[in-house]
Amino acid sequence: MPSVPKDAAAVILLRPNTDPNNPEVFWVKRSQKLSFLGGFHAFPGGQLDSTDSEAKVENAANPETAAMISCAARELFEELGVLAARGAQTLTAGQRVSLLDDLTSGRMSWAGLLEHYDLRLDARDFTFVGRWVTPPFSARRFDTWFFLVDCPLKQEPNVVQGELERGEWIAAREAYGRWERSEVLAVPPILHGLKTLGEGITADLISRFLSKPQAHSEPVRKIEFRPNYICFPVRTPTRPPATHTNCYLIYTSKSLLVIDPGSPYEDEQLALQTAVEDLLSAGRKLHSILLTHLHPDHVGGVNALREHFGSIKVTTHAETATALRESISIDDLLSDGDVIVLEGEPAMALRVLHTPGHARGHLCLHDDRTGTLISGDNIVGLGSVLIDPPEGNMRDYLTSLERMRSIPNLSVIFGGHGPAMANPNEKIDEYINHRLERERNILTAVRNGAGSPAQIVASVYTDVSPKAHAMAERAVLAHLEKLEADGKVAHDGDRWTAA
Ligand SMILES: [Zn+2]
Repeated sequence: MPSVPKDAAAVILLRPNTDPNNPEVFWVKRSQKLSFLGGFHAFPGGQLDSTDSEAKVENAANPETAAMISCAARELFEELGVLAARGAQTLTAGQRVSLLDDLTSGRMSWAGLLEHYDLRLDARDFTFVGRWVTPPFSARRFDTWFFLVDCPLKQEPNVVQGELERGEWIAAREAYGRWERSEVLAVPPILHGLKTLGEGITADLISRFLSKPQAHSEPVRKIEFRPNYICFPVRTPTRPPATHTNCYLIYTSKSLLVIDPGSPYEDEQLALQTAVEDLLSAGRKLHSILLTHLHPDHVGGVNALREHFGSIKVTTHAETATALRESISIDDLLSDGDVIVLEGEPAMALRVLHTPGHARGHLCLHDDRTGTLISGDNIVGLGSVLIDPPEGNMRDYLTSLERMRSIPNLSVIFGGHGPAMANPNEKIDEYINHRLERERNILTAVRNGAGSPAQIVASVYTDVSPKAHAMAERAVLAHLEKLEADGKVAHDGDRWTAA
């Protein structure tokens, strides 16, 4: 089951006296260290706190709106030190800093602080410009209210929290341009906000903000974290906590490549067909369907898509083609070093990397021009990667991770599950370190006398629920096979011992 979205609020902060024809907003970059949307550009904001509803908000339409405005104002204060309350103009910058300290240290509650200093939140200062829900492919989901707020005069935003790396005033049009040039990553509501504002502060600004169904809580289906790469998550029978597999639609003005249409469910197959038809109706041709690897949650919709569109070429690695030969006919085989060229604008060349480990024939795709890596199930934005022998091989997997890590100028990883990762090197290092740490612990357990995967799981995987132990034993076996190949453990057909 997809997780339930949590209430949240975000602030689109406008620079004081900004040029209505080219308005400036304050955007922030999330820390690379964050596991959720690390490295993404965003607007300040965060999750509703249970005490937000205690603060009084004048002129609010209803208690729910009041609580969300209070949340937006508190987050704006906590993250940027900007106090969007009436009465705040009499405070000095130093007083605001000390107030912020009172709040973050817990000496004063948000509602208590506002009341004590006679600061009044007023709904007329917070213009509602949409409510966006994170699509169900993410484990962390938010139902976020966006508010347009004029930055109070004489208050300069400053990034004050560890979750954010930096922030700056930027013309909305320029910020959107940076995304168009593949220089930054952002989620759909941020991009919609920048694009809408970039068209100027006009009389119809608010209706333009609200013109999309997604601005009224309808989950986004096509997520374009990066231009020309549409992430289209489809519901699949996959491994929890994932509930969806990411299908990618990579397009130019003339061509479309489909990666991993994985859903066996008819409603999801239809949704994908419609998305593909939309792209084709603008004059594009289907280049091919590419399969990263053999798992059912990545190939479950191939035959349906092929039947619908007639003659589409399906391509994959030879190992995958062999494994799938009973169910899917493969037209072309791909090998390491092949380059897939998509004609049209922008010209795209995707280099094929054979990266075994999770599966023998696993493929990744690398776009050198934008530093984009399609990682299949080698790196995922949600959950963990299972290495299950004999299809899975830990030694190969670590070699593949090292190879991915050595790609220069990586700027984003698009995984087989979950959101994109804008902190690719941090992510790969985390994967490598996690595996090496497990390996050390497993070796120690064997040296201390644990002789079977079950005994090793009991002593090493103390953070894993007993329900997941069978899966953990498969992973331990993969580690043991690697340690055996490395000459560090031995197996006598019954027990594992230190070599
Ligand atoms: Zn897989």
